Amino acid sequence: MKNKDGLGMVYICGAGPGDPKLLTLRASELIDQAEVILYDRLVGKAIIDLFPKSAEKVYVGRNIGDPTTHQDKTNELMLKYAGMGKTVLRLKGGDPFIFGRGGEEAEILIENNVPFEIIPGITSGIGAAVYSGIPLTHRKYSSAVAFVTGHEDPYKKTPEVKWEKLFDAVDTVVVYMGTEKLETIVERIKNEGKDALKPVAIVQNGTLKNQKVIIGNLNNIVVLSKQAKIEPPAIVIIGDIVRLGDKISWFNQTTKAVIPEE
Ligand code: SAH
Repeated sequence: MKNKDGLGMVYICGAGPGDPKLLTLRASELIDQAEVILYDRLVGKAIIDLFPKSAEKVYVGRNIGDPTTHQDKTNELMLKYAGMGKTVLRLKGGDPFIFGRGGEEAEILIENNVPFEIIPGITSGIGAAVYSGIPLTHRKYSSAVAFVTGHEDPYKKTPEVKWEKLFDAVDTVVVYMGTEKLETIVERIKNEGKDALKPVAIVQNGTLKNQKVIIGNLNNIVVLSKQAKIEPPAIVIIGDIVRLGDKISWFNQTTKAVIPEE
């Protein structure tokens, strides 16, 4: 679809956490219609397999620690294909507006007068919580949830996540990109005098067949995650509600729950 200037539409679209059945109907429709699909590292094989043969598929994944060049390249490609009048699907893992740079990409499109639409996706924090049986809110245990990044923009001068203060305001914290700096994150929360037995879960490859879940507490989660060889992509969930993960666990037998000693 082109606008009056001959520019193609760009759809900034969430692909959900991994399980292709969690794509929205809109995402699935756009996958079928797109002429060009620019997709991220977190769009897994099961979803890539759904791309039609006719679509041009361009991988625009980036590596941790090198965010700028890849983002610049992605922006260039969006503008290039839209300029050619192509219908572009910019497909992103999870939701485009949750640690997905969807906002930045939309701003670039606005600056260049490219028409666009944004389609939400199930963010991996929610997907991983549901598929590991951890209800992020619960009338008894959790009235407030925060989504935070464990990997701040290395070019930023001051850290933005106030780890020390988080639990003064919310009951449950969902950390994206948190496994690399897990030790620091845990220390910062414990230093503030928070209960060292506060439960922590890590969900690797959430919603996928190879989902792995470990449950521990602030004291033992670093050791447990090394033992379980946790690797990205993984979501870290911290809060009393994590205890329910053992009870409500419903998906996939490889889930391993290690409940904190009390
Ligand atoms: N926009 C995405 C997040 C991108 S940031 C979303 O809404 O989900 C990348 C981080 O997302 C990873 O480091 C990891 O913390 C998380 N992530 C993405 N897919 C995941 C999955 N299937 N299981 C667990 N964590 C995942």
